[in-house]
Amino acid sequence: MISNSYDVIVIGGGYFGSSISYHLSKAGFKTILLEQKEIASGSSGANYGCIQVQDSNMGISLERTLRGFKEAMQLEKTLGCNLDLREMGSLIVAENDVEMSELVKLYNSKRDYGLPVEFLDPRAIKKIEPYINESILKGASYMKQGRLTPWKLVYAFVNKGKEYGLNVREGSKVVDYIRVGDVIKGVVLENGDKIYGRHVIITAGAYSKKLGELAGIGIPVDYIKGEALVTEAVKPMMFNYLSSAAFFTDAHGGSGNCALAMMQSHDGNFLLGETGSAGPKDPDTINRLPSKLHLREMGRLATRYYPVLKDLKIIRTFSVPSPYTQDLEPVFGKTEIEGLYVAAGFKSCVVITTVIGQEMTDIIKKNDN
Ligand SMILES: Cc1cc2nc3c(=O)[nH]c(=O)nc-3n(C[C@H](O)[C@H](O)[C@H](O)COP(=O)(O)OP(=O)(O)OC[C@H]3O[C@@H](n4cnc5c(N)ncnc54)[C@H](O)[C@@H]3O)c2cc1C
Repeated sequence: MISNSYDVIVIGGGYFGSSISYHLSKAGFKTILLEQKEIASGSSGANYGCIQVQDSNMGISLERTLRGFKEAMQLEKTLGCNLDLREMGSLIVAENDVEMSELVKLYNSKRDYGLPVEFLDPRAIKKIEPYINESILKGASYMKQGRLTPWKLVYAFVNKGKEYGLNVREGSKVVDYIRVGDVIKGVVLENGDKIYGRHVIITAGAYSKKLGELAGIGIPVDYIKGEALVTEAVKPMMFNYLSSAAFFTDAHGGSGNCALAMMQSHDGNFLLGETGSAGPKDPDTINRLPSKLHLREMGRLATRYYPVLKDLKIIRTFSVPSPYTQDLEPVFGKTEIEGLYVAAGFKSCVVITTVIGQEMTDIIKKNDN
């Protein structure tokens, strides 16, 4: 008979759900991971996989990010599998004095916190990016980071978790909670199945607000419609992850402007993405096709930076609901409802998946009387 009673129920099979489930299982908690579609079918299966450090916020996020970076670069060893993990630099390019002075202001203060960011002039950028059109650049902030294949990381956590007894159910949408008085004691699935657990953790990315509403609490995680395209594979022509300074000033603002981030994968495909548009209120109703306007704009910006890309064929486009919070700090920890926890809305994700898995496991240990 299939068990329906667990120590911990984790809702959502993305970076955070998979990492938290793995760490809990490893710590001996009987854990089930519930995913409404397939593992890595959300934002975590459709991103660059950059182990972003420059993107971090000050304070608590920056501290976690720096700790997480060291752990992230060891993940192949920790999980015992190939994740295509490699070092990759990150350039944030400015095209004018205003953008450059914003970058300098932002990263000078981060440098005070120990972030090893350098500032490069157009000649120095050209040295590490020989195909770039340096004539349009004012400068860039730069630091060494890392990159891995996104879905490989999510599956690696899940598969390793299974070795420690993790139970995984795909096609299992949580539609309600089981309550005893004021305490949450489990979840109800769309097909009517009831699953019991002493602790329920929401790691549902862009859907976390909806799951909070189901429980009667506000989880201030919004989302934007992340849009991306993939080109055919070509010889190596780009060696760092690049984003426009506008990507950082505009990103997650729902301004409607196109702010580009791009990279070339180790297979040779270019990935172009942007996060400027707000999605519909309910992420379930998001149009999975990117807007033609943004696709054109991404192409225009990318070929401005790298004129050699102008004849490349686009082989795939997609859009995903990508979570964020207005104050750019994550929603993490115990909620006001006994038995209910949340981990969502992180700005830099890949880099802190391990740290968040460990921290949530510690929180559950403390609350597991
Ligand atoms: C184009 C683009 C590029 C990006 N590049 C990077 C990058 O290089 N590095 C980086 O760190 N971040 C990047 N990001 C951001 C990153 O992808 C997301 O922030 C991250 O994937 C969020 O992970 P998550 O686990 O919180 O959510 P998700 O991966 O979205 O996982 C949530 C899961 O919950 C499931 N779910 C929802 N509701 C329910 C329910 N009721 N019952 C069961 N399951 C449910 C969903 O199906 C989903 O699989 C990028 C984003 C975009 C759009």
